[in-house]
Amino acid sequence: MTETLFSKIIDREIPADIVYEDELCLAFRDINPQAPVHILLIPKQPIVKIADATESDQSLLGHLLLKAGEIAREQGYADAFRLVVNNGEEAGQTVFHLHIHILAGREFSWPAG
Ligand code: 5GP
Repeated sequence: MTETLFSKIIDREIPADIVYEDELCLAFRDINPQAPVHILLIPKQPIVKIADATESDQSLLGHLLLKAGEIAREQGYADAFRLVVNNGEEAGQTVFHLHIHILAGREFSWPAG
């Protein structure tokens, strides 16, 4: 996988407002927030997009979802938050390193836009 903005954030080559880190993942505030809380949660392992994940990533993906819930809770939104994963350019993905958007702090409509 080629280097992306997010691998540069993992490597501290570009700055980010980091809110959580462990050996498997990193979470930081989105530079262009779409809600009062807008955090990106990424695996340190460079998976391009969710469709590229395999059985061997099962435990990592579970870890990310558990951490997403914990991070939302820590931000004060245990019961009302939205997780978004854009997969592929046509679905709105612009950075090709898997990331979960954690959005909270406003009302969300459905269906998503
Ligand atoms: P995508 O559209 O791929 O699902 O989401 C990419 C997200 O990365 C966007 O919400 C965008 O605002 C965010 N983003 C792009 N460049 C940077 C950056 O340099 N720093 C941070 N913190 N977020 C970024």
